[in-house]
Amino acid sequence: MIRARLNPAPQPEILQKPVVGVLLPLPLAGAYDYKLPPGSDAGRGAVVSAPLGNREVLGVVWGAAEGTVGDNRLKLAEPLEGSPALPAKLCDFIDWVADYTLNPPGAILAMALRSRGAFEPEARRIAYVRGSVTPPRLSAGRARALEIAADGLARSVTGLAEDANVSPAVVRGLVQAGALIATELPEFLPFRQPDAAFTTPVLNQDQAHAARALREAVAAEKFHTFLLDGVTGSGKTEVYFEAIAQALEQDRQVLILLPEIALTIQFLERFAARFGVRPCEWHSDLSQKERRRAYRAVMKGEARVVVGARSSLFLPFPELGLVIVDEEHEQAFKQQDGAIYHARDMAVVRARIQDCPVVLSSATPSLESFVNAQSGRYTHLKLPSRHGVAQMPQVQLIDLRHERDAPDVEIKAQWLSPPLRRALEKVLAAGEQAMLFLNRRGYAPLTLCEACGHKFTCPHCSSWLVEHKYKKRLACHQCGYELPMPSTCPQCNQTGTLIPCGPGVERVAEEFSQFFPKARFSIASSDTLHGPAETQAAIRAFAKREIDVLIGTQIVAKGHHFPQLTLVGVVDADLGGSDGDLRARERTFQLLHQVSGRAGRAEKPGLVLLQTRNPEDAVMQALAKGDRDGFYEQERSFRESSQSPPFGRLAALVISGYDGDAVRDIARQLGKTAPHAKDVKVWGPTPAFYALLRGQTRERLLVQAARGVDVQAYLKTWLATVRVPAAIRVAVDVDPVSFF
Ligand code: ADP
Ligand code: ZN
Repeated sequence: MIRARLNPAPQPEILQKPVVGVLLPLPLAGAYDYKLPPGSDAGRGAVVSAPLGNREVLGVVWGAAEGTVGDNRLKLAEPLEGSPALPAKLCDFIDWVADYTLNPPGAILAMALRSRGAFEPEARRIAYVRGSVTPPRLSAGRARALEIAADGLARSVTGLAEDANVSPAVVRGLVQAGALIATELPEFLPFRQPDAAFTTPVLNQDQAHAARALREAVAAEKFHTFLLDGVTGSGKTEVYFEAIAQALEQDRQVLILLPEIALTIQFLERFAARFGVRPCEWHSDLSQKERRRAYRAVMKGEARVVVGARSSLFLPFPELGLVIVDEEHEQAFKQQDGAIYHARDMAVVRARIQDCPVVLSSATPSLESFVNAQSGRYTHLKLPSRHGVAQMPQVQLIDLRHERDAPDVEIKAQWLSPPLRRALEKVLAAGEQAMLFLNRRGYAPLTLCEACGHKFTCPHCSSWLVEHKYKKRLACHQCGYELPMPSTCPQCNQTGTLIPCGPGVERVAEEFSQFFPKARFSIASSDTLHGPAETQAAIRAFAKREIDVLIGTQIVAKGHHFPQLTLVGVVDADLGGSDGDLRARERTFQLLHQVSGRAGRAEKPGLVLLQTRNPEDAVMQALAKGDRDGFYEQERSFRESSQSPPFGRLAALVISGYDGDAVRDIARQLGKTAPHAKDVKVWGPTPAFYALLRGQTRERLLVQAARGVDVQAYLKTWLATVRVPAAIRVAVDVDPVSFF
């Protein structure tokens, strides 16, 4: 069914009053009143230029006037000519997010107006096409240029000069002679449209069943939440591509949220293979110009499919018909600075407001989504096996308490146990590939003076300085503070007493090369790979088998497909285990499960070896037995009995500032003024996990409430009880996912 939508930009509803409330993209309490020019019918969503102090800012007509300013003092807001309005449903979404996260709506609007340039009039480019005149006496260069221009395409002077390999002066001469005629082109090339039928995969039975359910929901154009729950390599992407195809056939737009830019880049090619063109991208790596192009194209309905990071949730889609959240369990979806929100949860809200389906996809869903799927709130679509002949890898535990080198061997390993080395040997001998995983950057997480016990810590953060051997520096991973690797201890002044403690990926690589001097390996972490392009290049090199062993952090753990990878060794499976964080176990399980999922994705079976000192632990046992649902059940009953999310609600206040005493004082006051309410408990204040971060002291309070409690109302009442000085920030984190 194809339905034409001739007018993609929704008409703003007409407000009667010439005075309106205008929301500015600033953290102000609410909308401000402005006059509109006489006769203006700018309604909710209309974009205006509004004077504020002595500058002009972009604003959005939000609704009726507040009536707080006298008529004679009202300033004039000018509607931007030719700019489409923000869709009313986006405005509703912004209000909703603001209410839920307790942020001023203007702070949320700021995320929706990330490209100011998108509202400015479109520039026109001058380009030239072949005219009817042919000048006499054509030089070879002139002739070549005219020959190329004969194809009818419009080119700039430099563009044609380059194509014809002549100087721009030659082209300009042809313009003067009338052989080339000027024409105007739009500033940006239009986005090419994805083709739903470019290639059509043959789905297996489970995939076809899931795809049908999604296609039906997209066709129904109603809100519906799906959990697409399939093991790694089962074809979840393939399945939700069908839902996208359906949305394209109905002329609706699609938003795909991915947790990381590195995954976005790989995704683009896969999308192009299915739909013929790349989708429109939206993330922080875009240039201003690309941003402007993408934003406009979304707003005009020309960009049909957008793939992006969290912030793409706030794009002005006029006809959104499907939202997909891939790797929905990823913590990267939680925005931690500025307005704190969870993009996965807000994606469901956006879909509800748009009245369209949303698909949450994962091999290891968040416990929240898992519980919602079990209770029937979400439709649970399962893909229980890998596509084709690929099998799930075999997972074995290596008990580090027993599997150690004998004291008399020549090279005694510290990090790679004998069973792991034997497995590596086998894989290398067979010409296959392996991955060693350790979620820790650098060489050693702690440097200690053997003589006096001094530990190197960051002066601005409560964290250790991590040794980076290649850079010969100690670095803070929280704030970026660095110093050259010292040779003497600053406390006792002795030389040669500093020792590295514990491994990072660099140190594991060092040990690996001692045992396997001929193997080709590379280290993959955010220190060795700068930006998405380099990450992508490293992943390609590994996929093309230019490297035998990849030694990496979580940067390589997710989403990638390496057909020859048959062994995954997890160097320290206990890392990040049970540090008192509610979600630590869930996260460890998810991460290790994802890493394991890299092994054996094609014909050759995969083996995963987890090195642990705690093999009886439920997480390790669940991984070894492949008993994912057993683990989830256990986690669920633990959360239920402790009234933790999703069975109870949490909210955190983080109080921070450079003046430690003032911070502790405000935190104490808040602790005292916490209102008494039924089914609400308040914990703290206590120093945050990073009690010092980038020079700021941090204190936390935690609200624990029963599920039915209106936490936002409680927090509002509470926050009104204490006057907070401007130098201190009280950040509200509704539904916190980590306790850093
Ligand atoms: P997931 O997203 O669940 O990890 P993918 O969609 O990435 O799984 O699929 C894993 C691999 O199997 C990919 O290389 C994909 O192209 C292939 N694949 C999955 N389903 C099919 C299918 N029906 N036909 C052909 N190839 C498929
Ligand atoms: Zn620091």
